[in-house]
Amino acid sequence: MEVTVRNKDSLWYFSQLFDIPFVLIEKSNPKLDAKQLNAGQTIQIPGYILSEYIINKEDTLWKIAIRHNIPMDALTLVNPFVNHYSIQAGQQIFIPERVNDLIVTDVDHYTYEEMIKAINQLIKVYPFITAQSIGQSVMGKDLIELQIGMGDKHVHVNGSFHANEWITSAVIMNFLNQYALSLTNNQSINGIYLLSLYIDSSLSIVPMVNPDGVNLVLNGLDAAGSFHDEVQILNHPEEDFSNWKANIRGVDLNKQYPALWEKEANRKTKSPGPRDYPGQHPLSEPEAIAMADLAKTENFSRVLAIHTQGKEIYWGFKNFEPAISAIMVEEFVRVSGYAAIKNLDNYAGFKDWFIQEFGRPGFTIELGSGVNPLPIKQFPAIYQESLAILLASLYL
Ligand SMILES: [Zn+2]
Repeated sequence: MEVTVRNKDSLWYFSQLFDIPFVLIEKSNPKLDAKQLNAGQTIQIPGYILSEYIINKEDTLWKIAIRHNIPMDALTLVNPFVNHYSIQAGQQIFIPERVNDLIVTDVDHYTYEEMIKAINQLIKVYPFITAQSIGQSVMGKDLIELQIGMGDKHVHVNGSFHANEWITSAVIMNFLNQYALSLTNNQSINGIYLLSLYIDSSLSIVPMVNPDGVNLVLNGLDAAGSFHDEVQILNHPEEDFSNWKANIRGVDLNKQYPALWEKEANRKTKSPGPRDYPGQHPLSEPEAIAMADLAKTENFSRVLAIHTQGKEIYWGFKNFEPAISAIMVEEFVRVSGYAAIKNLDNYAGFKDWFIQEFGRPGFTIELGSGVNPLPIKQFPAIYQESLAILLASLYL
């Protein structure tokens, strides 16, 4: 919600007026000098929206404020041209309304476009969340990274490396929404106050690493553009794409990293296909490159790659993982009920490379159980398990 500064207003005053943590208002207005507000400037207040209201015969601004549980001055602030003493029936005013519910509720059929829509909605209500493009998919879709938090503990989470695991994107977006909602409303989740996590950590999120693949799984050949004929042949004799894991060129993005890549390449399929092809060489695909570059520039303290399925957490790679990884995975297991597996006969994944390259904790989390793509009716259960792990990744 946007408000216009009056004489003598301050960010501190807005924080009190709307009962929103000061730091969130500050972070929602990054270009602003908090000490030097000028009348007429516009300020973003996170966690609120403006709704329109038509004055009734019996109304006074006072009564409207009481009814909506907001201070009288919140109402005058957003209606600078309304004269308190002479409001008239039929007149339209604005009412600042606290957002008390999740915005990202549509979690089925979670295409790239659905995700972009959710990102735009979230950023509008919670401008302390920032978004940037970290590269483009083969078909030119921006790969979006979202950031929330201001601490030194730099946690990274990604989803949908594999196309038919698109439910992970919805899980991560839902988590981001719940995080922001709990921040502005100063709520705890299972006794954990999100504001302290926000201050101690910075969370980087790439909710959909493989958007071309996700859209192919969900929308079929219509989503393949100039790759229409190619993917049809690669997928033969299958006609639907629900088993497709790769990117649009038939490369498995989670077998693209220079961490025993040759071992994987020698024993896996030698040509593009719906799954398992590691590519002609490591980091041949723009999506995999973008993720490697991101990890190099952002100096993550830990990474979580979210996949489906198996209710398992992989946490080792050739003993390059630090001692703290074992402690972290123990907590993930405790809160989720998932099984910890140290080493897996599976290489060249993002978390393998991260552990090898940086010697820091990296995890692959396999959500839920069943056959990919997991049915959407599993979403609530999967979400709760993920929530527990994601929160732990921030407080540990
Ligand atoms: Zn996967």
